[in-house]
Amino acid sequence: MTDALREKLVDAGRVLVSEDQGDYVAGHVTLRLPGGDGRFLMKPAGIGLEEMTPDGIITVDREGERIDGTMPRHNEVFIHSEILRVRSDIAAVVHTHPPNAVAFSSLGRPLLPVGNDGSIFNDGVPVFSETTDLIIDSARGKAVAHCLGDRQALILRNHGIVTAGRSIEEAVWLALKLERACRVQLLAEAAGGPKLLAAATTCGRRAGGPTAPICIRMSSTISSGAGNAGTVIRMRPAARIHPATARAHRKSAPR
Ligand SMILES: [Zn+2]
Repeated sequence: MTDALREKLVDAGRVLVSEDQGDYVAGHVTLRLPGGDGRFLMKPAGIGLEEMTPDGIITVDREGERIDGTMPRHNEVFIHSEILRVRSDIAAVVHTHPPNAVAFSSLGRPLLPVGNDGSIFNDGVPVFSETTDLIIDSARGKAVAHCLGDRQALILRNHGIVTAGRSIEEAVWLALKLERACRVQLLAEAAGGPKLLAAATTCGRRAGGPTAPICIRMSSTISSGAGNAGTVIRMRPAARIHPATARAHRKSAPR
């Protein structure tokens, strides 16, 4: 069971990087472990999202402390621990620094349904503006979780995005769609601003709530919820790159 969850986390990182959400060693994904005690699996610090291996993934407790694994823990663990603490409906959290979302957040504009990507977030995407710095303590983590509320996606102004899914597939899917929504709106803003907007999407949503079950088939070896009425997106995870190549591009400080 745990081995399968570790494989899912590895594939999540590779999919995110294949969709331009890598930032050297920054960005992280987590997946809640069964048992109800708040433990979760997390990408370790010091490597890229695409460099994760099942053996390198660390286990973290509800306070954000590493309790298993040897690799370092990301300083921003509190984004994950505090969201998972208060959102029992959420199984996985993604935090990345995708360029379009970061650029869009600097405009101070609300995200609009310029296209179908944006219409998925028709209920609004909260923007966390308390700081543009890293979320490196539990107080800031709690503030991010409070800002997220009962939504499944949030923008950290001038910093990045956070998505929360009922599965790792959903959290990744929301991260990809949010980045695309920001990119499409940036294009419209650069052309004079959107004049017409898309209708709220109903496909894959439950009435009045956040996105409904939508799954990504992250690799041919992972079941993607056969019988699920939601959209299935097939993706080929990015090929793992040689560690020496990745090290040459890394920044010094893990985030
Ligand atoms: Zn960050």
